[in-house]
Amino acid sequence: MQFRDLKKQYEVLKNDIDKAMIDVAASSAYIMGKPVKELEAELAEYVGVKHCISCGNGTDALTIALKVLGVGAGDVVFVPDFTFFASAEVVSLEGARPVFVDVEEDTFNISIADLEAKVKEVIAQGQYTPKAVIAVDLFGLPANYKELRTVAEQYGLKIIEDGAQGFGGAFEGKRACGFGDISTTSFFPAKPLGCYGDGGAIFTDSDEYAALADSFRVHGKGSFKYDNVRIGVNSRLDTLQAAILKVKFKAFHEYELDAVNKAAEMYTEKLSGKVETPVVPEGYYSSWAQYTIKLKDRATRDALQAALKEAGIPSMVYYPTPMHKQTAHIPYGPYAEDLCPVAASLCERVLSLPIHPYISEDDVDMVCSTVLKFAL
Ligand SMILES: *Cc1c(COP(=O)(O)O)cnc(C)c1O
Repeated sequence: MQFRDLKKQYEVLKNDIDKAMIDVAASSAYIMGKPVKELEAELAEYVGVKHCISCGNGTDALTIALKVLGVGAGDVVFVPDFTFFASAEVVSLEGARPVFVDVEEDTFNISIADLEAKVKEVIAQGQYTPKAVIAVDLFGLPANYKELRTVAEQYGLKIIEDGAQGFGGAFEGKRACGFGDISTTSFFPAKPLGCYGDGGAIFTDSDEYAALADSFRVHGKGSFKYDNVRIGVNSRLDTLQAAILKVKFKAFHEYELDAVNKAAEMYTEKLSGKVETPVVPEGYYSSWAQYTIKLKDRATRDALQAALKEAGIPSMVYYPTPMHKQTAHIPYGPYAEDLCPVAASLCERVLSLPIHPYISEDDVDMVCSTVLKFAL
C-alpha cells in the first residue's frame, strides 16, 4: 500500500500527461511557455481571484509574498507553531522575526485567541512591528479566516494564506488560496495538486501585489528582463510542470477532490468513536492533504504506527516537532516551555494515515481494521 499513490494516478492520466510532456519538448519553449500562462489563468479563475503568479516552489511563493508585503528587519510575522518548517523559515530568511502561535486542538489550524494574545505581547514589548500573519491551511482544511480577518484588521496585519496543503479546500463557497491578502500554494508532488517536481504559485486580487510578485520572481525585473528595478529571485514554474499540472488540474477538480473526500468519509465512518478523527467544521470543505488521527499519548501513537508498519501499512507523523523547538529557530527564542501547549501535545499524538483519490475501499478497510484491532 502507498501512502499517496502517485503511480496509480499517472497510470490513469498517462495518455494525456505523456502527450503534454512531449508537446513541451517539441515546442522548445521550456521557460514561460504557453502552458504557464494558461495554467495561471485557469487556477486564478478556479480560486476566484484576479491573479495567479506561478513560481518555482511553495517556499519561494511564501518568500515572494513576504517581499511583496515589504516584510524585513524589525518586523514580526505570526506563524502557527504546528506546520511544515517552510512556513516559518521564510520569515527568518527575510530578516524578520517569526512569533509562534498555538493552534486549535480540533482543526490543527492557528488559534485566533492565541494570535491576539501574541500580537498584544509584541506590541507591549515595543521592540518589533507586527506586520503579517501566515495562516496555514493544514492538512487541507482552510484556517478560520473569518475571525482571523477581524483580528488582522484590528491590529493592521496583512494575511498571507499558506495554502500549500489547502488548494481545493473551501469555506462557505469561497475557495482556498483566495483568503489571504496574498496567498500561496505548492505543487510538490505529494500536495493535493502536485506536479512532477517542484512548483508553486501566488494568488492575489491586488493588481499592485501581482505586478510586484511577477517582478520578484524574475530578478526584480522592471519593464523587461534586463531592466532590474529591485532585488528579486529566479523562481519560475517550468513549462513542463505547467503542462503536467493542466492535465492533473482537470482530474483534480473533475473527480479527484470528490474521491478523496469519499475516502475521508469512509475513514471517519469506520474510526469515529474509536480514535479521534479529524474535524471539518460546518461550512468548511477539506482537500485532505492528510487524514490525521489523534491518539491519547505518544506511547500509544508510536505503538500504533509500529503495528501498522507490521501490517505493511505506511503512516506518517506530521509533525513530530513544534516550530519553536526546531533547532534552527532556537536563536530566535528563548521560548517558554509552555509557549504553545496544544501544538506540543499534537506533535506527540498525531498520526497521518494513507489517503489519496485513488485509494480503494479495501485498502481503507484494511487500515481501519488494523487501527481498530489496536485501539480495542
Ligand atoms: C509543502 C509546504 C510548503 C513548501 O512547499 P515547497 O513547494 O515544498 O517549497 C510550505 N508550507 C506548507 C504548509 C507546506 O506543507
